[in-house]
Amino acid sequence: MSAPVLDPAVALRDAGLRVTDSRVAVLGALAVRPHASADAVFAEVAPTLPRASRQSVYNALSDFVDAGIVRRIEPAGQSMLFELRVDDNHHHLICTGCGVVKDVDCAVGAAPCLHPSDDHGFQIAAAEVTYWGVCAACAASAD
Ligand SMILES: [Zn+2]
Ligand SMILES: [Zn+2]
Repeated sequence: MSAPVLDPAVALRDAGLRVTDSRVAVLGALAVRPHASADAVFAEVAPTLPRASRQSVYNALSDFVDAGIVRRIEPAGQSMLFELRVDDNHHHLICTGCGVVKDVDCAVGAAPCLHPSDDHGFQIAAAEVTYWGVCAACAASAD
């Protein structure tokens, strides 16, 4: 297993973004907390960067999404979540009890869900599948 090691400064430069303390901290926060909301990222960043404002964290996240180095998922009725795993079109399992989010690969091939049975002439750029349910821990505690 060789998970790519993220060097925030390199990732920022590769994306054509200026390297700033808050951007580096935001990327670092997402590396340890995938599927974090903007508020959760801010909470992660705040102790090391006391002068970082909530707005600067939000701005960094939106710059990253625009630059394609961070993926934003928007589960219905929940806050937007951010993660570093981009470009593989993976799906998510979300617990309706505790809100835990798990990555799920496409069932077959690289990105079969990019090919709907009828694309109505669209050029499909992304497909999002969210499986809603109750996680094992929540199911166990409900008994
Ligand atoms: Zn749960
Ligand atoms: Zn994910």
